[in-house]
Amino acid sequence: MKKGHYAKIRKFVFTSMILAPIIPFVLILSVGFYYFTTSLESSTIASMKRIVEDHGQMIGSFLKEREADLKFILHSYDFNDIADPVILDNTFKRLKKESPTFIDLGVFNKDGIHVAYHGPYKLVGKDYGKEEWFKEVMKKGQYISDIFLGFRRIPHFVIALKREDSENSWVIRATIDTFMFCNLVKKVRIGKTGEAYIVNTDGILQTERRSGGNLMEKPADTIKYLKSHSDIKIYKQEKEYLYATTWLKDDNWMLVVRQEKADAFSAFRTASYIIIFISIIGGAIIIAAAFFMTGRIVRRLERMDAEKEQLNQQLIGASRLAELGEMSTGFAHEINNPLQIIKSEQSLIELNMSELKEAGQLKKSEPLDEIEDSMEQIKLQVSRCSKITQQILKFGRQSEPERLDVDLRSFIPEVTDMVAKKASVHGISIKQNVAEDTAPVYGDTSQLQQVLLNLFNNAMDAIIDQHGTFGGKLSIEAGPKGNRNIEIKVTDNGSGISPENLSKIFSPFFTTKPVGKGTGLGLSVCYGIIDKMGGTMTATSEKDVGTTFIINLPEAK
Ligand code: ADP
Repeated sequence: MKKGHYAKIRKFVFTSMILAPIIPFVLILSVGFYYFTTSLESSTIASMKRIVEDHGQMIGSFLKEREADLKFILHSYDFNDIADPVILDNTFKRLKKESPTFIDLGVFNKDGIHVAYHGPYKLVGKDYGKEEWFKEVMKKGQYISDIFLGFRRIPHFVIALKREDSENSWVIRATIDTFMFCNLVKKVRIGKTGEAYIVNTDGILQTERRSGGNLMEKPADTIKYLKSHSDIKIYKQEKEYLYATTWLKDDNWMLVVRQEKADAFSAFRTASYIIIFISIIGGAIIIAAAFFMTGRIVRRLERMDAEKEQLNQQLIGASRLAELGEMSTGFAHEINNPLQIIKSEQSLIELNMSELKEAGQLKKSEPLDEIEDSMEQIKLQVSRCSKITQQILKFGRQSEPERLDVDLRSFIPEVTDMVAKKASVHGISIKQNVAEDTAPVYGDTSQLQQVLLNLFNNAMDAIIDQHGTFGGKLSIEAGPKGNRNIEIKVTDNGSGISPENLSKIFSPFFTTKPVGKGTGLGLSVCYGIIDKMGGTMTATSEKDVGTTFIINLPEAK
């Protein structure tokens, strides 16, 4: 039943010790992890938004500036001037100085005929009347095309502007270097996989895409996010990518900044590993600590229960002793009375016999001598019996302490005599040295006797342990010490006490003796008795050499 009881306690303590720290630990980790991931997500999204915004503005202003360059030319010349190859040549050179991204410059009449051209292709005289870009520029006055092949069969895009004079309207057109423009757009770099590219409303690539996709191709994933027309949009529903988009060129081109999710949230993975690591280490520490503490608590509990049990046994023993004391006092009284009667009867017989002798009625004879011897024996034995009953009565009275001045000069020899027989049996020589000027101490004789007997018995046990029955030495010394103090020293040449045990010997239940022999109470009781008398008790010892107990008591007032 006891075993099960401790197992239950162990289980309860262990689970409480694990649950108590693990619940806040898990809570803190989860809350920290939640805030970390949400703030990581929002900061990643915010930075992508900022990138797409800045980059979009940069590309937008690039196109606007190129448009402004052409506008300036358009309004600086008349149709006839600009159609002149020399003037067009000079104008293009100035334009190229302004921005090296221009490849060519062409002039068109209102029917779409290419009247003048400066550039690497042979396009003069070609009819653009039916071309999409020409129709658009004639309609709107200005037009930036998507990427297209045109007559030259090479992907390119153009900026075209129309001038409407009173009698004539005409168009100038410049081609932008696709390679340079692509580089301008591609410049964005975020993490390992971040990239930027432009698609038109049909999802066709207007610039190359670093991760794959040539000009005028249509990547599979583009179409999904073309529907929405807000300023900047973040798409994170996509399984693998995080997208940020913005519209350019009057909502005809979309700038896309795209990054692989695993790359964008790589810090998230690191944080997860750290959290898993912390959880494992933290959990292991909590479990190990709980295991260790539970062991300690349960062991302590078991020890306390054992001590309680032992104390109970001591109490039972003590009360039995008290009962025995009471009983023996009763016996002693009972026996004392008849003894007194026997004694007085014996005295009466003696008196009568001496009267008869004096009257000459009893003649000296052998039987009379024998009767007188018997009478003497009766007297002797009765007085022995009454001595024993006196001692029993004294033992019975021991429970009530009776304080008085104790003269150590006679007290110590008396107590020493009590163990003299045991000592001589075990070959132990006892030396006593009580100084003549030793003043009396104030205390209960039976308690003081208990202290000395306990010290003697412990000393003799240690001596027998060390020397068997030969060579034991026990000494008791007493004398004045310091200011009105008396010192009593009990020294033996027994087995001694190890330094780690020396600090424990006055603790209750500390014993090195086998079960049934030592209770470990002797010294703690002695310590209590001396303490109550206002004195101190200490011990010095050396293993295998011997031990000295020193008692200091105040002189009686
Ligand atoms: P017990 O004698 O029942 O063990 P005590 O309280 O009287 O209890 O003593 C406690 C312990 O102190 C003993 O078990 C013993 O180890 C040690 N001890 C006490 N006196 C001596 C001594 N004179 N020499 C060596 N060891 C001693």
